[in-house]
Amino acid sequence: MITITDRLAQTLDRIKLAIDKYHRVPDSVTLLAVSKTKPNSDIITAYDSGQRDFGENYIQEAIQKIQALSSSHNDIVWHFIGSLQSNKTADAATHFDWIHTIEREKIAVRLNNQRSDALPPLNICIQVNISQESSKSGVLLSDVDTLAELIHSLPRLALRGLMAIPSSIDDEQKLSIEFSSMQSAFKKLQARYPNVDTLSLGMSNDIELAVKHDSTMVRVGSAIFGKR
Ligand SMILES: *Cc1c(COP(=O)(O)O)cnc(C)c1O
Repeated sequence: MITITDRLAQTLDRIKLAIDKYHRVPDSVTLLAVSKTKPNSDIITAYDSGQRDFGENYIQEAIQKIQALSSSHNDIVWHFIGSLQSNKTADAATHFDWIHTIEREKIAVRLNNQRSDALPPLNICIQVNISQESSKSGVLLSDVDTLAELIHSLPRLALRGLMAIPSSIDDEQKLSIEFSSMQSAFKKLQARYPNVDTLSLGMSNDIELAVKHDSTMVRVGSAIFGKR
């Protein structure tokens, strides 16, 4: 039987091969293991194999996991990658190290107000609606600058970069176009804010294409933990 440990190693190999193939800097892509709907035992297995960054989508489920694991595994870095409602911002600000899905000023302001001074600033990525479909989450590329400026001005938040979920997982050509526009938006943001270092792009099926387009963090669930 193929184990989580095997799948994690295979995923890290895919990242490494893509880094070589596209002449990226070694170790410039972080693997974020997406553990939503999976039990703590799966997280612990991945942890014991060396994985430290974990992504969760649902606040309630995530907090239970974080509370259960925080004392025994206190160097896990927790990333929130789901959609964040304003009544959940206090929980998110208290329990997470990163939020990848900021698309509204109001949510950013609440997180800033609710983040404890005892904790380091909360790391933030702006979610971009790369497909420009009105049904999708995220801001339009044309609105990134305004939101970035606000986040940059908030002392309890650290603007780290951009995140996107592509629209068209089966159409590689369309995916390439979307990833290319994220790549240039990321470069533009970095030129303006030197602390910006994160492009959160790529999932189980498109790790290689994401690495090709300067992704620095791939969010991988099913390729590590199996089907949900
Ligand atoms: C679930 C999820 C992932 C992981 O997707 P896989 O296809 O299982 O790798 C990545 N990013 C986000 C935002 C998700 O919700």
